[in-house]
Amino acid sequence: MRGMEKKQVEDILKLASKFEKGGASNTLKGKILATLFFEPSTRTRFSFESAMKRLGGTCVGFSSIEGTSVKKGETLIDTVNIMSGYSDCIVIRHSKEGAAKLASEHSSVPIVNAGDGSHDHPTQTLLDLYTIKKSLKNFNGLRVGICGDLRYGRTGRPLSIALSNYDTEISFISPPQLSMDKSTVKYIRDNGTNVKEVLKIEDVIRELDVLYMTRIQRERFPTEEEYLKFSGHYIVNKELMNLAKKNMILMHPLPRVNEISVEVDSDPRAKYFEQSRNGVPTRMAVLYTAMKK
Ligand code: ASP
Repeated sequence: MRGMEKKQVEDILKLASKFEKGGASNTLKGKILATLFFEPSTRTRFSFESAMKRLGGTCVGFSSIEGTSVKKGETLIDTVNIMSGYSDCIVIRHSKEGAAKLASEHSSVPIVNAGDGSHDHPTQTLLDLYTIKKSLKNFNGLRVGICGDLRYGRTGRPLSIALSNYDTEISFISPPQLSMDKSTVKYIRDNGTNVKEVLKIEDVIRELDVLYMTRIQRERFPTEEEYLKFSGHYIVNKELMNLAKKNMILMHPLPRVNEISVEVDSDPRAKYFEQSRNGVPTRMAVLYTAMKK
């Protein structure tokens, strides 16, 4: 997200809105999207595939390395090099930070980062911004709380970076061991954004316009024991929602484990299912931008 300009982001959001209303549906007819998922995914992979099909294109790819030559020891660079010969655009998810960037240096077609380790997940950020804009109309003036595993998670970081291009205030809510990295905090402060770092949701929920929950990233902890120290640390329930503003929106990139109680799902402020649906028009906009002539 650091490399994306505000104008580029806004163009994608505008395009997403056009696609959501049903505009320009066959524009990628004859194009092939390759989805290379070296890590598990439900929403990202299926919404990309659905987006590509809605634009009239087709998809090839894999959802795990089982059954591919990666199992035989093929490198990421070789896999990308080969797949770029079979497709017009590649969407890649990988456990290593920087994998998508590396892929882009060895591909003859555009690469879309669908998550690289704990680092970034830019299309998630775009759909998060799209969701915020749809509900609250404007980014300027918003107070946004980002809560949970800010260290290993890859959604809070790019969201805070994108929001720092607007007049926003960001509260990072996490235990000290899972706090946002200093370089990101510095980056968004240098961008003119007011940043708070707090331990409890109760410390800030009354003032928030957006509360963005994240999952404790079990798969990235060195041991299960370490993970268990933090699992269940934050749970948004009805009681907590009673403290929030009437028009605050509650978001989550999903999957949730226990961060949001099911009882909150019927609260009109719970936007996470709508947020996941917004993945389709937003990714249509990304694919269209990557592949249009
Ligand atoms: N689905 C999001 C991601 O891939 C969030 C998560 O897994 O916690 O990063």
